[in-house]
Amino acid sequence: MSRSCYPSNWKQIATAVKNASSWQCSRCGRVCLRPDEKPLELTLSQRRVYNLQVHDWNMNPEDNRLENLASLCSSCLYYHRGRKGNVSSGH
Ligand SMILES: [Zn+2]
Repeated sequence: MSRSCYPSNWKQIATAVKNASSWQCSRCGRVCLRPDEKPLELTLSQRRVYNLQVHDWNMNPEDNRLENLASLCSSCLYYHRGRKGNVSSGH
C-alpha cells in the first residue's frame, strides 16, 4: 500500500481523522474496526467492509485540512469513488 502522492505523515493524519470521528463512517454511520480489532466471527471480506478509510473530498491529497477529510467505510468509499470514476486505487 504505497501512495506516493500522499504526504509522508498521511498515516498519522488519517489516524487522527479516524479518532476524531470515533471510527464511524461519516456517510452511513457504520462503526468500523480499529486496526487492533480482529473479531474472529467476521470473515476477511466482512472485516474489509468495516475498514475505515480517510478520504479527501476534493481529490487533492495535498489538501489535508480536516474539513477536506472524511472517514468512510469501504462500501461508502467505493460508492464515492465510483461516482467520480477517475481515481485509480491501485488494487
Ligand atoms: Zn459508510
